[in-house]
Amino acid sequence: MQSLRYYRELIQKIDAFTESVISTYGNQLHCREGCSSCCILESIMPVELVPIVQWYVTQPESIKIIIKQENSHSCIFLQNNSCIIYPVRPVICRTHGYPVLIRNSVDICPLNNGIHFEPQYILNLENCNTMLAAINILFIKEVQIPSLQTERINLRTFFQSPESDILSIVHTLKGY
Ligand code: SF4
Repeated sequence: MQSLRYYRELIQKIDAFTESVISTYGNQLHCREGCSSCCILESIMPVELVPIVQWYVTQPESIKIIIKQENSHSCIFLQNNSCIIYPVRPVICRTHGYPVLIRNSVDICPLNNGIHFEPQYILNLENCNTMLAAINILFIKEVQIPSLQTERINLRTFFQSPESDILSIVHTLKGY
């Protein structure tokens, strides 16, 4: 599916960017395993749900129970200060903490304040979001799954829906 190919390419570009930031500023950055200050994600675009549900259906029951449980106000995928969907996490989570350009000003996690970043290590987040939104519109056109025909998916609500509904979405996606 064209939209999923574009989505993978966007992820690869963002990951390449963050790897370049880490290789240049790694020692100074506060971002590392165990820091979960940014993990308050509630909703994502439907196209971002695809790799997550494909991962979800391969998981043992013990992991599914953790995801479905009513936990605190943090993201449903945060367990013991670690992201259990790390390889398939959405776009925003891949930029968390790093310097991003929004409305012509640089935003960064307060824990990374004080680091001077050269311009090539500042991600234009508005461009990323524009690309993601366009990819998502294409995805919605490409798939005919009613529950994914929406602007955003609330993660807590989605993963508390019946298991058969989640499996049915994954099964239908295989047809594309
Ligand atoms: S998906 Fe992972 S990285 Fe993103 S907010 Fe949730 S726990 Fe944090």
